[in-house]
Amino acid sequence: MTSNENQDHLVPKSHPRYESLKYRHKIIEGMKNLVVAEAGLIAHGRGECFDYILGEKTTDVAKKAIEAAVASILLADRPIISVNGNVAALVPDELVILSNILNAPLEINLFYQKKGRIQAIKNVLQKAGASIIYGTDPKKMIKLEGLESNRKNVELIANADLVMVPLEDGDRTEALKKLNKTVIAVDLNPLSRTALWADITIVDNIVRTIPEMINVAKKLKELNPSYLEKIVKNFNNKLNIQNTLNLILDYIEKQKEKAFDAVKI
Ligand code: ATP
Ligand code: MG
Repeated sequence: MTSNENQDHLVPKSHPRYESLKYRHKIIEGMKNLVVAEAGLIAHGRGECFDYILGEKTTDVAKKAIEAAVASILLADRPIISVNGNVAALVPDELVILSNILNAPLEINLFYQKKGRIQAIKNVLQKAGASIIYGTDPKKMIKLEGLESNRKNVELIANADLVMVPLEDGDRTEALKKLNKTVIAVDLNPLSRTALWADITIVDNIVRTIPEMINVAKKLKELNPSYLEKIVKNFNNKLNIQNTLNLILDYIEKQKEKAFDAVKI
């Protein structure tokens, strides 16, 4: 082990940026274990930046999207949760719990298919308790229409009516929409192509979203389908994204006044 690796475990809990550093180190560890692609580090950094200007909390606007997302997964006939390296590195245990509660299988789907990566992600998910993981056997894969990248190789996603795509690439979201699938995205950037193409966009950090979805799923599971349909019908994604942008504007406006309070001696 290098001295650098030792440092990864030395972030004191009292550090004001402890949470953020903890997940940063999970991503770095993930990269060392092949789970996260090099580009995944950059994607994480882009996410952190948006999280900062959202106040690093799950907003009420995001909670609305989460409720609509859970309701539509419960109503779907063949829902699936697509898994990439960053998600597997950040919240593997929670992802497996959510998949079980919602009866939505997990399928590994990667943009960067370095040798051994699929197996590395499969190992992480199995360690987290997943029994069946799709997208791992080349013999079972088929090609999704309208997509050039490695992400075209899919298993259950081909026939799914709903796909949840945390930290997605815009190209695939677009391709999934063109195939008439319902797409749920979790993306801290409210202006990414993914966010704009999805049917339900949860603008929040995946590390907070998945635990929140678990809580909401426990409640909504007990409810009548007609109630769930009402939740989905009343949700307007365009309006929700615009409300998120308003929250960012408000946050920055407030910080213009308050930003220096915290650093005064
Ligand atoms: P698009 O292809 O949709 O236009 P992009 O090319 O800007 O998006 P990608 O690298 O394809 O971005 O995808 C990464 C996305 O994941 C970014 O929008 C980033 O904000 C988001 N992201 C990164 N980490 C997290 C996280 N922990 N939670 C939620 N979103 C995240
Ligand atoms: Mg992209």
